[in-house]
Amino acid sequence: MGEINPGANFFKIMTESIFDGLIQVDLDGQIILWNKGAERITGYSSQKIIGQNFREVFAKLAQEAGGQFRENISLISKTLADGIEREGLISLKHREGYSMKLLARALAIRDVTGKIIGVIEIINDNKGLMSIYQQNKRNEETVLLDPLTGIGNRAHIESRIRQALQFTRNSSSPAGILFMDIDHFKNFNDTYGHLIGDKILRFVANALRQNLRTSDSCGRWGGEEFLALINETNPEGLRVAAEKLRTLISQAHLEENGIHLHVTISVGATWARETDTLESLFQRADELMYQSKSRGRNCVTMDE
Ligand code: GH3
Ligand code: MG
Ligand code: MG
Repeated sequence: MGEINPGANFFKIMTESIFDGLIQVDLDGQIILWNKGAERITGYSSQKIIGQNFREVFAKLAQEAGGQFRENISLISKTLADGIEREGLISLKHREGYSMKLLARALAIRDVTGKIIGVIEIINDNKGLMSIYQQNKRNEETVLLDPLTGIGNRAHIESRIRQALQFTRNSSSPAGILFMDIDHFKNFNDTYGHLIGDKILRFVANALRQNLRTSDSCGRWGGEEFLALINETNPEGLRVAAEKLRTLISQAHLEENGIHLHVTISVGATWARETDTLESLFQRADELMYQSKSRGRNCVTMDE
């Protein structure tokens, strides 16, 4: 309406002068900003791109070989849907045909009421930054992995359970945990040696990893003790998950130099309650697991 808006002018100068690529999409996925940095990185002018849907544009700019453009489409789509900031490495094909890896970050734009009205994606082709990003990712992964079994370690499973506890407080979707301890593990170590003991730990870890749903998590909590987080289930589902793992482990056998080893676990299963802390939840699960030990081992004890 002919009004002077220094803010808008400032925004324009900023977006056009920075070296990074800036791409803005509205709620319908239409691209409404494609700055000079995005032109430089991709080779496509804003005139060509603005007004198109980002899904079509990124499919066109895709590195067909790996089909990895999906990463980019999903980065923006997910942030459009939930407003959570994300970053990741994406692959794009420059107008001249060569492929490149970029570091991308998607940020939600909201109106004054907090409603999501679009997403800004910042793309960066700085190799130094990308390698720092990759190194950080690798560090994050190794910090949360148990080197002996390759499943999550205590910090990993505790952080997952902490998240689930927060979620339980805000929703009706309950989560349960399983506390599992290998029966007579010391006997295996003493009879066959620590290397066989380690092999048994990997065997149990693999059984957990392969038989839990992708929405669940597991980790090695300590020595021969494991924890699993069972998400979005009911009491029957928690018991079924526990019994399934217990049975699978007890029915499999490990062969070592012609000797068949039978491994069993004792399980404590419990629900996350609204008033639970990590400690109270673990303590209950640990007590239930000990009840399984005193009932003769190789069984599941669950509270209601
Ligand atoms: P229970 O049925 O009552 O659980 O008996 P248990 O022998 O399993 O229980 P206990 O807690 O007495 O023994 C656990 C043993 O686990 C003691 C320790 O030697 C062994 N252990 C702990 N961490 C490791 C590991 O990383 N590798 C190996 N090989 N053994 C371990
Ligand atoms: Mg133990
Ligand atoms: Mg034990």
